[in-house]
Amino acid sequence: MTGRLRRPLVAGNWKMNGLRESVAIVEAVRNGLTPRMREAVDVLICPPSTLISSCVAAVYDTPIAIGGQNLHAKASGAFTGSISAEMLADLGATYVIVGHSERRAYHHETDDGVHAKALGARRAGLCGIICVGETKEEREEGRTLDIVRAQLAIGVPKGANARDTVIAYEPVWAIGTGLTPTPADIAEVHASLREMLGQIIGSEAQKVRILYGGSVKPGNARELMAVENVDGALVGGASLVAEDFLGIIAACA
Ligand code: PEP
Repeated sequence: MTGRLRRPLVAGNWKMNGLRESVAIVEAVRNGLTPRMREAVDVLICPPSTLISSCVAAVYDTPIAIGGQNLHAKASGAFTGSISAEMLADLGATYVIVGHSERRAYHHETDDGVHAKALGARRAGLCGIICVGETKEEREEGRTLDIVRAQLAIGVPKGANARDTVIAYEPVWAIGTGLTPTPADIAEVHASLREMLGQIIGSEAQKVRILYGGSVKPGNARELMAVENVDGALVGGASLVAEDFLGIIAACA
């Protein structure tokens, strides 16, 4: 996969999975990276916050980055149970997922909230991975582009750049279901997102990575990653199995 405008990023989202013994998955990914993968792909693992420190230690002196799965928009304060971008950065995290559909669905996160969190990530020097995606109903009603463009328009802060922002297109109906859109459907959404991004941040939009997420597996990664404007993957389930995650990284390399 050479001749790309943007260096691909493969990001694993462990969600609420993983105990201390799961750091072995990070070690296996670290040990399984080939020179070609290291040269061609950025790799990120977002474990639960409880494991960030141990995962950061496990990837010391390797190109693998560690990130958070969520943050509070404020730097500190009376927000019991929340974690700020500064706290994630203090642990050695360099990325954070913002506005994952599970946060939107189960924690009522809004596009304005996503915007505030993206600003929080930037404030602490983290790269925010801003997630957008339509539900099954929205797709069936032909509203996919309207939905994801609106999520982007509100969520992405002005002045965002390729160092502090990654976009992830994750159709809600494709997450954890084994279903994926067709390559043509993904191409249409990613092209539209890049155009919308151009309206928000101008020419910098060409440099910002737009990941695809939703049931990416080693078996479909090559086809999905070959789609125009797809600059890597956000991976849930398959990121919990080192061999599968490595297979997806290989497909991007
Ligand atoms: C996700 O949770 O971001 C995701 C893409 O999950 P999965 O790969 O399991 O569909």
